[in-house]
Amino acid sequence: MKERPSFPVRLDFLGKPPKSSRLIPASVHKTLIQVMAPPGKLMLQGEGMNSTAVRMNMVHKLSRQGITDPLVLSAMRTIERHRFVDSAFINQAYEDTSLPIGLGQTISKPGVVSRMLELLRNGAPGRLGRVLEIGTGCGYQAAVLSHLAQEVYSIERLRGLHEKARENLRYLRLMNLHLLLADGMVGYAKGAPYAAIIAAAGGECIPQAWVDQLAVGGRLVAPVSAGTTASGQQTLVVIDKTPHGLRQTVLEAVHFVPLKSGVA
Ligand code: SAH
Repeated sequence: MKERPSFPVRLDFLGKPPKSSRLIPASVHKTLIQVMAPPGKLMLQGEGMNSTAVRMNMVHKLSRQGITDPLVLSAMRTIERHRFVDSAFINQAYEDTSLPIGLGQTISKPGVVSRMLELLRNGAPGRLGRVLEIGTGCGYQAAVLSHLAQEVYSIERLRGLHEKARENLRYLRLMNLHLLLADGMVGYAKGAPYAAIIAAAGGECIPQAWVDQLAVGGRLVAPVSAGTTASGQQTLVVIDKTPHGLRQTVLEAVHFVPLKSGVA
């Protein structure tokens, strides 16, 4: 089984003691590090504590950026983003940046994930019902979503990423999250109607199947290409399916990988 990256990988003080411990004689300092560093239970506890603090800091920044939904903030506090990124990027796991996840795809910025999830929830008092996600990628957003919905169906078209997500998510044992290898352009009719649909890849328009599979009273959040220009400019679009028809709201500019058809 793939070994999970530990956190943080950069233990700068191993070479040089930090200022606060400079008064400890070098020999004692080395002993302290040896006691702390061996892999095992103690180290794992330390890891957990460190990543919790960094995640709290990330969530604090998200709320300063205007995210207010307590369920979203709590889910972002719970899911360990560093477990979903490749070890080369682990030090950046809690920065507000998108990161490569292989096969030319990226994990979205925490700021964008929380913004989209807040829009998706639209202030609902409890968990959403069934939710469809298009673009599982590494599985991070799917894991966050599983805390916000009763049931989550997440579709990925690239086998390599579908398998990577399965591996990344195994330890969480999320019984309400279902990963599917399929073309998300056609949605997933078996799970319809959905209380909410979210896409992590942007096309030139919103596929009709998504709108059809959305429940009345449901909400869809997706990036959509703003025009036919090659610049790849996209905007975030919200579609509400009301008893009187569809209501579309166009929001800020975003940057997502393209929505493509077929399984590869
Ligand atoms: N939410 C993801 C972000 C993944 S990037 C995460 O947390 O990692 C968007 C993903 O959408 C890519 O993995 C890409 O392969 C996938 N994608 C693009 N078009 C798709 C389609 N038609 N069906 C399913 N997945 C698609």
